[in-house]
Amino acid sequence: MRASRFAASYGARVAVAESGRFGGTCVNVGCIPKKLFSYAAHVREDFHVAQSFGWTVGEPQFDWGTLLANKDREIARLNAVYESVLAKAGAQILRGRATVVDAHTVELGGKRHSARHILVATGSWPHLPEIPGRDLAITSNEAFHLEKLPRRALVIGGGYIAVEFASIFQGLGVETTLAYRGVHLLRGFDADLGERLAEEMRKKGVVIRLQTNPARLDEGIRVTYEDGTAQEVDLVMFATGRWPNTADLGLEAAGVKLAADGAVEVNAYGRSSVASIHAIGDVTNRLNLTPVATAEGMALAKTLFRDEPTAMDHDNVPTAVFSNPNVATVGLSEERARERHGRVEVYKTAFRALKLTLGAHEERTFMKLVVDAASQRVLGAHMIGADAGEIIQGIAIAVKLGATKAQFDATIGIHPTAAEEFVTMREMAS
Ligand code: NDP
Repeated sequence: MRASRFAASYGARVAVAESGRFGGTCVNVGCIPKKLFSYAAHVREDFHVAQSFGWTVGEPQFDWGTLLANKDREIARLNAVYESVLAKAGAQILRGRATVVDAHTVELGGKRHSARHILVATGSWPHLPEIPGRDLAITSNEAFHLEKLPRRALVIGGGYIAVEFASIFQGLGVETTLAYRGVHLLRGFDADLGERLAEEMRKKGVVIRLQTNPARLDEGIRVTYEDGTAQEVDLVMFATGRWPNTADLGLEAAGVKLAADGAVEVNAYGRSSVASIHAIGDVTNRLNLTPVATAEGMALAKTLFRDEPTAMDHDNVPTAVFSNPNVATVGLSEERARERHGRVEVYKTAFRALKLTLGAHEERTFMKLVVDAASQRVLGAHMIGADAGEIIQGIAIAVKLGATKAQFDATIGIHPTAAEEFVTMREMAS
């Protein structure tokens, strides 16, 4: 979408081939419907908070059908908006599945189209481990269209999608287990985040089984784990990663080099091993986030059609995980910062948010700053708690600009907020 729009605005003649619905994973079976579901799941807690402020709330009832119908209506609206944005930008829309024939030719519906440049932005697809009975399980693709909510669900994995959907199911009243093969959730994030998120999710009722991996699934659904233990659930969802969508696209035959996982290998400017074929987004399996893909798309349009070679900067990209509670982060984890910078100073704080102080709520907000001891630059900012993504987005500007701890401290807090803690952390934790 973004690459096409910008390329067209720079004067290129653009055609877009799409076999599905416009907007890609994010709009159809990713970020947008996921966040709508996440809001729905959080509302359950809002009823309890409301009571602590004196409101009388009857027994809340949740209707999955209403949520699905409203979500589908909104997604259909977005599909139409996206398609019309492309059309208005002057892009020709080609409906159907395209394959690459050679460096300058794409085939679609038996017809060949030639182009000076070809851009592959076909995204990724859920990947499931090859265990017996895996066909009994679903992935996030299907989770967005379940006919009814299960009574008991098992989510497998410990990454973004696993913790987000475990939180969604639990919030909507499903008895939820999350089974993850590793020791800490969210591998690659600061270890404090994974550890504390597991604690917070457990407090809310999610059963989290670490170092536990399914060996087989049988009708029922009966899940047998590698350690021999077993469990019966009504729904199993694999959230075990997404792999680049390059199967049967004709890329290898056209000479495009793919990595072992199928990702298109590209240089800093998005160019593949074939000079006229480029790739952006999840299909390159670098940093698989929508805003990164759109930024890569804009960079490519500038490089190709504005004579302004632009390499994508993948450093200090902020990201949020819409689990309950939310997690957000920018910059380096403590572990990575120690590897890269040697001596670091760490500041941490954990507290109960003001909004939760009038009731029996156990959720703790957590914040952490990782500072380079030598330069005093803030290398990483990490948070678990309400609106973590909204807060870290602002902090990310400071981190991207190379702000020091002293500059954070010189910033006046907004009182009373949770975010002010990021500019008032005085006690070094280590
Ligand atoms: P992730 O890579 O985040 O997590 C995959 C999880 O599955 C990891 O915990 C991994 O374990 C585990 N896993 C992988 N293979 C196996 C296996 N064979 N058996 C058991 N467990 C396995 O992928 P997701 O599917 O959660 O999401 C895909 C990507 O989509 C994310 O990485 C992210 O880039 C993007 N995304 C972003 C979101 C956001 O911005 N909020 C939301 C959702 C997705 P281990 O850690 O041990 O490797």
